[in-house]
Amino acid sequence: MGSRSLSFAGRTQLISSIIYGTVNFRMSTFMLPKGCVKKIESLCSRFLWSGGIDTHSKAKVSWATVCLPKNEGGLGPRSFSLWNTTLCLRLIWLLFSSCGSLWVAWQRHLHKLDMGSFWTAQPKSNDSWFWKSILKLRGLATKFISCHVGNGSKAWFWHDNWSPFGPLLSYLGEDGPRSTRIPLNARVSAACNRQGWTLASPRSDQAVALQVYLSSIDLPSLASEEDSFEWVIDGKVMGNFSSNKTWEALRPRDSEKDWAKLVWFKGSIPRHSFNMWITNLNRLPTLDRLVSWGFQVTTTCSLCSAAFETREHLFLHCAFTKIIWGLISNRLNMLLPYFSNWSALLNWAKVSLPSSPSTLRLLLSHALVYGVWRQRNNIIHNHVVVLPLTIFKDIDRQIINTITARRKMKKFRNLMQLWLH
Ligand SMILES: [Zn+2]
Repeated sequence: MGSRSLSFAGRTQLISSIIYGTVNFRMSTFMLPKGCVKKIESLCSRFLWSGGIDTHSKAKVSWATVCLPKNEGGLGPRSFSLWNTTLCLRLIWLLFSSCGSLWVAWQRHLHKLDMGSFWTAQPKSNDSWFWKSILKLRGLATKFISCHVGNGSKAWFWHDNWSPFGPLLSYLGEDGPRSTRIPLNARVSAACNRQGWTLASPRSDQAVALQVYLSSIDLPSLASEEDSFEWVIDGKVMGNFSSNKTWEALRPRDSEKDWAKLVWFKGSIPRHSFNMWITNLNRLPTLDRLVSWGFQVTTTCSLCSAAFETREHLFLHCAFTKIIWGLISNRLNMLLPYFSNWSALLNWAKVSLPSSPSTLRLLLSHALVYGVWRQRNNIIHNHVVVLPLTIFKDIDRQIINTITARRKMKKFRNLMQLWLH
């Protein structure tokens, strides 16, 4: 089956599952070059909007918006670059946590991580590209990795995040080692003996606070357990690295969208939902928008030839569409609804009455928007004219099929009687 015959909804699914699955495998081992990630994202975007990667089709919605979760207005696939970063943070975490792994042992040996801290390792010109990109992620990783000090033999006094003040070098500043007389490359165990801590008398408020804290904890020189590292997200210690939770902490966020549940409701028809998503964002190439982009096109609605084509006109006010709304409201035994604007339609679809539950209203408004948009394109591109009644019959058939297929779902159970009564 050619991908072009896949619906938009099918393509979104495909991008998320197959393509991301393939790339994930590679991404969990390597940091992909930025240019490569960009290319993949642009291919995904092109595939989503045109059904192929060799044809150009204007993206109706930016890839950044597409990558938001559905309840924040997107479609839900993860942004590649950030997901790649997340998976590489996992590699950094392994350097700290799994001493038993051959890969970790090799990296630690290769980069002499027992002689100096990972946090201060300088990239060398003959280092692999992979290692250099891992080092670039340190600023981000330091937010997540904290150290639980045991005997102090592993933790670096100045570089690991083992106190409530964060890494002490940034807390006390470059002058810290000199003023405390603890060398820059000291482990925590080197800063104390069996009698207590060996820091020089504090000379600043910060240093006093540090010494107060140190006097309150168990002396590492008396402890027997090893130092250990923890993956911490927003102050919460994770048992182990979680790529999903780390992704959640890193990903771009947008406000929750009230309309999302009206577009992606349980049991909705995927291609209708997808079309509704674009329509709701007002990204359909309606004539008013084409003109605003500078296209020289006629602006008259092709369905009624009597008004300027906008989203509101096409789906709410057009005489052609109003006949379909009339047939629908007849069936629902209600008065013809009047929609002053797009949100009035959403508000109408949200309402649940015993005779017309919200699920039915949503199914109908989705199907109408889909059917009217298709017919509008049919006239413009193929010069095929059909009557509103034909569109209604098509909607009717789709509603019946959908309710039949979902009759076991609670919200669909009595919809058939209500629709056919
Ligand atoms: Zn019209």
